[in-house]
Amino acid sequence: VQKSILNQNQRSFAHALTGAKVLVAGCKGQIGLPLVHALCKEVGRENVVAADISDKKADLPCKFEQLDVADFGRYEKIVKDHKITYIVHLAAILSALGERFPDRANSVNVTGFLNAINLARDNKCKIYCPSSIAVFGGEHFPKVNTPDDVILQPETIYGVTKVFNEMLGNYYHKKFGVDFRAIRYPGVISSEKYEFNGTTDYSTQIFFEALEKGHYKCFLGPKSDLPMIYIDDCIQGTIDFLKADSTKLKRRTYNMAGISFNPEQLAASLQKLLPNFEIQYEPDFRQKIADAWPKSIDDSNAQKDWGWSYNVTVDDLAQKIFDGIDEQYK
Ligand code: NAD
Repeated sequence: VQKSILNQNQRSFAHALTGAKVLVAGCKGQIGLPLVHALCKEVGRENVVAADISDKKADLPCKFEQLDVADFGRYEKIVKDHKITYIVHLAAILSALGERFPDRANSVNVTGFLNAINLARDNKCKIYCPSSIAVFGGEHFPKVNTPDDVILQPETIYGVTKVFNEMLGNYYHKKFGVDFRAIRYPGVISSEKYEFNGTTDYSTQIFFEALEKGHYKCFLGPKSDLPMIYIDDCIQGTIDFLKADSTKLKRRTYNMAGISFNPEQLAASLQKLLPNFEIQYEPDFRQKIADAWPKSIDDSNAQKDWGWSYNVTVDDLAQKIFDGIDEQYK
């Protein structure tokens, strides 16, 4: 009787990450590093392998393998050597960098993803690959409260490659039964310095320049509303989604709304923390990218299917970012 109660309990706590051997490909970026730490807590550091093309030093609590995701042979060797069962494929060239190096974006975001999903199919791994609000674009979708299913006409190579990832993931799910999952992240805000290669990165950069120089020249105009999320909340949502029961997922790609605000509103919240802070606006090529993206997102499917919820104000968010910044900058 005891054994059957134990089995019942184990079953009720079992989730999609239970017993998983996870590979995080593209582990040294803004999302990779905190996600690796969270995964090590979730499944144990001996069950996580972190991989990246970069050999720069990073605070990794688990095994590390150097990997160019465009190199199928190397990717396959890592999956097989470590008996990987869950591929978290993060490696990508982001929006602003992709516009400067479109060929590189194709190699990493298309070839790299093709390698990952073929490995997932052939080695029976689950696969998670984040998508982005960059899949939206053009004139034929509602920019306020954008739902999951709209016409996708992205205007950056990054967005085009992310649409390809979503479509291929969906196709492999239907055709081969691959457990592919994606969240369309909004802009992700951190309290750390990293390479600011995204269009929403002003929201992190502004804090460091405010602390270091007292002013910030913003590359987007004051009224550029965009959806954003704080990194800790993004990581928690991602872990919840990775754990979600596949049979409860009514779709393979989900919107994640975060909170929408513009540079003027964020600057006002920052001025409450640093009263002498000043902002100027000098929009560059990233303004056009931002203008094509949604102002706010509808994520009711994520709420219904896997219990996602998010409720913060811009002041809360500014406080979170500020509190998370290392004392050395303050
Ligand atoms: P990032 O640019 O900070 O990090 C990307 C990582 O991938 C880096 O460590 C880089 O060295 C690595 N990489 C690049 N090319 C590689 C290759 N060929 N092989 C192996 N590794 C390679 O990006 P991020 O913000 O951590 O984004 C992670 C994922 O989340 C990406 O798929 C991105 O599209 C998605 N996403 C991010 C945001 C955001 O605001 N940060 C928003 C939406 C979606």
